[in-house]
Amino acid sequence: MRVYFDNAATTPLDPAVFEAMKPYLLEQYGNPSSTHSHGRSVRAGIEYARKSIATLLKVTPGEIFFTSGGTEADNTALLGTIHANGVKHVVSSAIEHHAVLHTLEVMERNGEIKLSMVELDAQGRVNYDHLENLLANNPNTLVSLMHANNEIGTLLDIQRVAELAKAHGGFFHSDTVQTMGHYVHDLTKLPADCIVGSAHKFHGPKGIGFLFLRKGHKCGPFIHGGSQERNMRGGTENVAGIIGIAKALELAYAEMEAHQSHVQALKTRMIDQLKERLPGVLFNGTAENAEESLYTVLNVCLPQTEHAGMMLFSLDLHQISASGGSACSSGSQLGSHVLQAIGHDPNRPAVRFSFSKFNTVEEIDYTVDKIVEIYQPVVA
Ligand code: PLP
Repeated sequence: MRVYFDNAATTPLDPAVFEAMKPYLLEQYGNPSSTHSHGRSVRAGIEYARKSIATLLKVTPGEIFFTSGGTEADNTALLGTIHANGVKHVVSSAIEHHAVLHTLEVMERNGEIKLSMVELDAQGRVNYDHLENLLANNPNTLVSLMHANNEIGTLLDIQRVAELAKAHGGFFHSDTVQTMGHYVHDLTKLPADCIVGSAHKFHGPKGIGFLFLRKGHKCGPFIHGGSQERNMRGGTENVAGIIGIAKALELAYAEMEAHQSHVQALKTRMIDQLKERLPGVLFNGTAENAEESLYTVLNVCLPQTEHAGMMLFSLDLHQISASGGSACSSGSQLGSHVLQAIGHDPNRPAVRFSFSKFNTVEEIDYTVDKIVEIYQPVVA
């Protein structure tokens, strides 16, 4: 059996998404900025896609800007908001994705901002009192906190944070890459200034994302060039990608409840079986509390073993693809900054299993069997 449990890194493309993209790869090749008919029909496709995403998020099409993915959307939101509004103070957290963390760290090093890190508990939950203190003492603050952590799955009370930021006259950006297409984002209720999406996290293609910028929120461009995306993002559009992200989000919204209950059941089954069969197993983050944990992610803190460093390799030998933290930093020798921030014991292997609608109960059972097998000499 070959098992793909690395859906937080990227998800397989839904065949229906590929079918929607196909005409824009083969037949509809005009440049959307051209005024002739070849260009106009492609422009119409892009605007239809924008409208479709806007409708799902309950915003206007003018508030959606296509980007090359989550990283670019985060960079645009942060740099654009800070520069356009004279922001001097940013509150973020030590467990943000590097798309946010490294961007803010560079700005801090350049002397452009003061960066405050909100306190977190051992599950990666924000200390809301500390956040409120930071906001109360610093006017014109930008808060940037992720909705769900990509490594440990801890969920933020995004509504509470958005309201806190607004109550103190601040700005709010959330890296919603891991929750877009997995939860409903109703921006008539959520007072966020900027949120983001990345298609490949919800069965769309790689290399396409979007940034929601609330009407009236001042934000400058990150990529300079032509007048595409209403002067917010120069460069000829990734047309097939744009068609793909809209189709993927439509499907995700249509299937959301079924998808959520299927995936949550897989996660719960894995938790229960591991607890039963592997003494000493723990779970990083808030995994055992479904209300506070992203249902697609399960970060398992395995018992200590001398083979800790070989765990992913051993799983790979059994054709099980999982991750040892964020895939974005795989290949580097550095450990996970997220696990470090929550005080994870480095002697215990941490494996992130992340699921999608295409995974099955059989795959969970097979994987648990293999983990137990790997540990056999240790637990016997
Ligand atoms: N933010 C989070 C939370 C992510 O998990 C990722 C991807 O792993 C990104 C941002 C970056 O998104 P992209 O790969 O589309 O640039």
